[in-house]
Amino acid sequence: MEKRIITAALTGNWGDKSTNPALPMTPEEIAEAAYACWKEGAAVVHIHMRDEKGHPTMRVDLFEKTIELIREKCDVIINMTSSGGHSLDGMASDETRMLPFRKLKPEMGSFDCGTLNWLHQTIFENSPKFLEQLGHLMQEVGCKPELEIFDVGMVDTAKYYLKTGVLKAPCHFQLVMNAAGGMAGTVENLVYLKNQLPEGSTWSATGISRSHMPILLATLALGGHVRVGLEDNVYYSKGVLAESNAQLVRRAASIIREAGYEVATPAEAREILGIRK
Ligand code: ZN
Repeated sequence: MEKRIITAALTGNWGDKSTNPALPMTPEEIAEAAYACWKEGAAVVHIHMRDEKGHPTMRVDLFEKTIELIREKCDVIINMTSSGGHSLDGMASDETRMLPFRKLKPEMGSFDCGTLNWLHQTIFENSPKFLEQLGHLMQEVGCKPELEIFDVGMVDTAKYYLKTGVLKAPCHFQLVMNAAGGMAGTVENLVYLKNQLPEGSTWSATGISRSHMPILLATLALGGHVRVGLEDNVYYSKGVLAESNAQLVRRAASIIREAGYEVATPAEAREILGIRK
């Protein structure tokens, strides 16, 4: 695979301007960051919303506004989180998490293949009932699931859902390494995880915080696509905050080209991922 897709994860559920002043929070800031990342080579932007107080939320109006602003500027693939609203107070309700998918029918959305303890502080809950409903809903609205994997057993859960029809092959996996509570971000773990994926799948990986660069480099060597962005890593290098999401995309694009691969455009990424246009 010579074309590599860069996904930019612009804003997660955690952190704010005090974590990194460049973290985009409002629809305007998120759309601006998406456009800047697209200019640097991101084919996909993975987006979370924040309310006026900066709290994570699944509010449809905020997603709608952000998508509208991004679409005015570029054709980047928009990948909506389904885990927004997750805070120390717990998860948003299943219905709240699914509503933006029903209403906005995004091209792509995250599908977290199981529940885990999160940051050693709270539970990141994705119940069987929720995942079954979300998987069927995504098929109904033509949304390509990005199967986020935080630990090995989650790949087996994805395989189970392939058998039961909750998911349809070919799958696209996002291996999220080094989330506290999930699998450590080592190259050895990445190789193992990659080898468990169903044949014919596409895959991408990201390393949280200090595993960011090792996982990026190993993923490229193993033939995967990459994810970067302030959701996963607010630093550019040890102790130095990233200036922007776009700066992280620029570095990834440069490494991809230096390694002799090509950076996939959104149109090429749609082809690779089998996304309807
Ligand atoms: Zn996310």
